[in-house]
Amino acid sequence: MPGTIELDSPARPAAPATGFTVVSSAAGGPKTAEERGTDRMDYADFVIVGGGLSGTAVAWQLTRRAAGRVILLEQELSLGTHATAQNAAMIRHLVEHPAMARLAREGATTLLDPPADLAGAFEAILGTRHSVRRCGSILAAASDAGCRSLRAMQADAREAGLPTEWLSPAAIARRVPGLEPQEIAGGVWCDRDGIADPDAMVQAFARLAGAAGAEIRRDTTALGAEINGGRITAVKTNRGDIACGVVIDAGGAWARRLSRDLGGSDLPLRPFRRHIAVTAPLPAASGWPIIWDLERGFYARPESGRLLISACDETRWTPCRPPSDPEFLFDLGRKSAILFPHVEFAIAQSWAGLRTFPADGRFVLGPDPAIAGLYWAAGLGGHGVTTCTATARLVADSILDGPSAELLPFLPARLLAVPTAADSAPTTPSPRHAAPSALPASTPRGAPGVTGE
Ligand SMILES: Cc1cc2nc3c(=O)[nH]c(=O)nc-3n(C[C@H](O)[C@H](O)[C@H](O)COP(=O)(O)OP(=O)(O)OC[C@H]3O[C@@H](n4cnc5c(N)ncnc54)[C@H](O)[C@@H]3O)c2cc1C
Repeated sequence: MPGTIELDSPARPAAPATGFTVVSSAAGGPKTAEERGTDRMDYADFVIVGGGLSGTAVAWQLTRRAAGRVILLEQELSLGTHATAQNAAMIRHLVEHPAMARLAREGATTLLDPPADLAGAFEAILGTRHSVRRCGSILAAASDAGCRSLRAMQADAREAGLPTEWLSPAAIARRVPGLEPQEIAGGVWCDRDGIADPDAMVQAFARLAGAAGAEIRRDTTALGAEINGGRITAVKTNRGDIACGVVIDAGGAWARRLSRDLGGSDLPLRPFRRHIAVTAPLPAASGWPIIWDLERGFYARPESGRLLISACDETRWTPCRPPSDPEFLFDLGRKSAILFPHVEFAIAQSWAGLRTFPADGRFVLGPDPAIAGLYWAAGLGGHGVTTCTATARLVADSILDGPSAELLPFLPARLLAVPTAADSAPTTPSPRHAAPSALPASTPRGAPGVTGE
């Protein structure tokens, strides 16, 4: 495949974590304001760790409910520089797991028809209240089994009042120029799907939270915690301690490590590397919908007169800014040659990002099973752009109102009982990759729609 590959530059190394300290085994809780004043420089009711889509959306959700003082910590110099900056930005309503599909519909609706405060923030940042470009999507399948899975998602959507349309291979090929209809068995058209602006989303959430009194601290790394009577009472950072009532782990690929450092549970969330490429200009691309062959694992969507494409590769990795490996182009070329035998995708740019999720592919939201006051807003996998406003709403609900039936499929506690072979399997660094943290073990792809974009 012709074209050049641009590799991302490596990230600044984060400061090493120092872990947690149990300061008292006696029963206790957050200190009173008077007690805090004598021995603490800083206090927040809520310390959110992680300034990606998840953490900033939680900050927005907590401040719009006037829940208390919020401090958000981000280890990088800017917000939203990891998965939040590396994704395909697709808003997709149809997801296989019904509970995740509900959050996808809620999240997509919030972006398509934003509440007044969010619309106002988008207008200030983008000059328009609408941050999503609706281009529609076709989720396609190559086999009868794949079509049955798509029909089930379609039925779930219909029950929720979301109109979709079943398309024949010929109808799909009419909407996607160059697609070989014989390679597709059918697909679902969803006219409400589209392309979001994750950077504007993060800026909008941070702007709204900041205007409501939240403090955003960049270049600040959460290193550990103080635990008092089984409850987290302070977060240690490279810039001092913050006494707190609640800590929210929105650490993305670092969420598991962060929880351990904070004294919380060691839950099997795993980051997986995926590559994305952008083609050279293609005259017809601007009229394309999102097209995604769920079974082969290939998607394409319009991107400013080009196409953004991915072969949906999935390689287990460790938290870092992952290097791009030009070998992904072989898989991309093989799949695109099957689906688009007469179209040449010249690649102009590519990068890689980490999608982080547990083995069941579901989000990890709500209270940590080990430590009171620690909550998870992590494991958003390949769905965080679409769902972050909904997952953040659910996390805020669980902190302020207690657990609900809606939270059950996502509770962190479900992961305690399921150590997997993949977690205990030894991993060997690949000589091909310079990054010392790289884990090369390839894993099979999840079921369609579970692990996301
Ligand atoms: C290739 C790819 C394609 C994708 N495509 C789509 C798509 O089309 N549609 C969709 O809906 N979703 C998509 N996603 C998923 C989406 O990007 C993620 O779900 C979302 O960005 C996750 O956000 P996050 O805030 O959880 O993680 P991140 O954006 O990674 O943010 C976590 C933050 O926590 C910070 N942090 C970690 N530890 C600490 C610490 N100790 N102290 C301070 N800060 C810390 C990190 O620096 C980081 O900024 C895609 C993802 C990838 C990688």
